[in-house]
Amino acid sequence: MSQTLVGLGGNCPGPWGTPAESISRALRELGTGGITVEAVSHLYETAAVGRAGQPPYVNAVALIDTPMPPEALLRRLKQIERAAGRRGGSPWGPRTLDLDILDYKGRVKHWRGNMPRFARAGARPLVLPHPWIEKRPFVLRPLLDVAPNWRHPVTKKTVHELWRRVARGDEGRVMRAL
Ligand code: ADP
Ligand code: MG
Repeated sequence: MSQTLVGLGGNCPGPWGTPAESISRALRELGTGGITVEAVSHLYETAAVGRAGQPPYVNAVALIDTPMPPEALLRRLKQIERAAGRRGGSPWGPRTLDLDILDYKGRVKHWRGNMPRFARAGARPLVLPHPWIEKRPFVLRPLLDVAPNWRHPVTKKTVHELWRRVARGDEGRVMRAL
């Protein structure tokens, strides 16, 4: 399998505008400098259930093609996040733009068995595929739009199967296409 998938998300306004505007601009930026954006999902909005006071999250997934190695791609994603006003901060807190490598051509790094494996303390190494895809409706639904034949590189489950499992949960129910 040789697909590369990038997840895009955000829940607060920044220099590029609303979360949806930041995502559109990020997609344009992504399409420059050695990356081809081949397909983009719909945008999905997820109400911030249980995180009272936080604005809703907006998420999308892009299918890209690039000769860049994954570490260089991640650096490029972080540059775009910074340009969109992203500052350090807590990984679960509000953010203007979050860009993740969901899958890099089926490559597996920092997994052991069916579990992502990396030290909790310190900087997270590049984990491939992205550790939390299977649990996140707001990743699986847009992923289904752009890569309906995708299988998780570690667990080999199909995106259909994974989406069916999470779709009935709270977050699955509060999500809508924009
Ligand atoms: P999250 O995306 O999990 O909500 P962050 O965007 O703050 O949180 O990411 C924390 C760190 O995770 C980043 O500094 C990045 O280096 C690392 N990371 C590890 N694997 C990946 C990946 N596949 N895609 C994006 N970032 C990753
Ligand atoms: Mg991230």
